[in-house]
Amino acid sequence: MSLRKYQICTNCIMDTSDSKISFDSGGRCEYCNNYHSNIVPNWHPDERGLREISAVVDKIKQDGKGRDHDCIIGISGGVDSSYVTYLAKAKFGLRPLLFHVDAGWNSQQAVNNIEKLVDGLELDLHTEVVDWQEMKDLQLAFFKAQVPHIDTPQDHAFFAALYKFAAKHGFKYVLTGANYSTECVREPLEWHYHAGDRRQLLDIHRKFGQRPLKTFPLTDIFTYKLYYQYFKGMKVVKPLNYIPFHKEEAMQELVDKYGWQKYAHKHYESRFTRFYEGYWLPKKFGYDKRRAHFSSLILTGQMSREEALNRIAQTAYNPDDLAQDFEYIATKLDLTVPELQQIMDGPNKSYKDYANAMTFIDMGTKILRALGIQRAIIR
Ligand SMILES: [Zn+2]
Repeated sequence: MSLRKYQICTNCIMDTSDSKISFDSGGRCEYCNNYHSNIVPNWHPDERGLREISAVVDKIKQDGKGRDHDCIIGISGGVDSSYVTYLAKAKFGLRPLLFHVDAGWNSQQAVNNIEKLVDGLELDLHTEVVDWQEMKDLQLAFFKAQVPHIDTPQDHAFFAALYKFAAKHGFKYVLTGANYSTECVREPLEWHYHAGDRRQLLDIHRKFGQRPLKTFPLTDIFTYKLYYQYFKGMKVVKPLNYIPFHKEEAMQELVDKYGWQKYAHKHYESRFTRFYEGYWLPKKFGYDKRRAHFSSLILTGQMSREEALNRIAQTAYNPDDLAQDFEYIATKLDLTVPELQQIMDGPNKSYKDYANAMTFIDMGTKILRALGIQRAIIR
């Protein structure tokens, strides 16, 4: 895959499966160094953070007077968005509308978790169902394109539908579960390309799709970063960055209070995501997203490097689940198991093999980093 000599960070477990990773003379990677020089000094999950988020909460309440809901939260059923929901209602006293996108891959567990929160916290839920025929066509196009990021259709739909809905209904505040605590090491773009790149999505669909995208929710990263936020005055709030957020404890709190169910691994709330992260990426490309996730947990003191090394040495899937998921995914996409296998065995491509907006996104990322808005390394 790479002609580089293998190297793994001496502090976290990021390694040369990220082909552009750099290390200092002590063998520490750029993610570790960025964490200490750029994230830690600007991250205050303590009294200071609580003061800051309290001020934001007061403003949300004030601006939301007279409305049915004062903010909106996109919920997947995973731990991050679930915990934000709990915080917003139970701790902050906000009146969020929960917004869920059903792109056809939900696990029963995810659906149950959302229902438990809706009932337990007495919240309103709006569910948007993506037309499955269009979703299936686009999903299959991404498989045929042989790119790592076959989760783009699902991510794009979540993102686009949420922001479109929020803009249309005049929501000023979007609360998200994005956080440094479990995501301070971000996967490089070669593993996980921007789902918001509309140009790429449409190019792949043009080459491999068969059915026009008539209702599929589309947006692009510029509409989101510039238009919604600067022209429509929409604010994206990340409450988990202002409080101590410990993943295991947060999950346990949700289990105890609402009968929420834990997942074996981050993002396994969708059967598709489990297949994509647990098999497609590691098996076909040698990219293991757990590496970035565990590294984040090491840096934030939630996992030892030794435990991370032990866990990453084991495959994410047990073989029975894999066989079942493989067949499930093939059937849902109207493929036979051998046909899906044939796609798996095809030549690997990257986002660079298709039209993309990287030049502009790069420019935007540089500006956001210079302004201190973007602190995690994205490249
Ligand atoms: Zn490192």
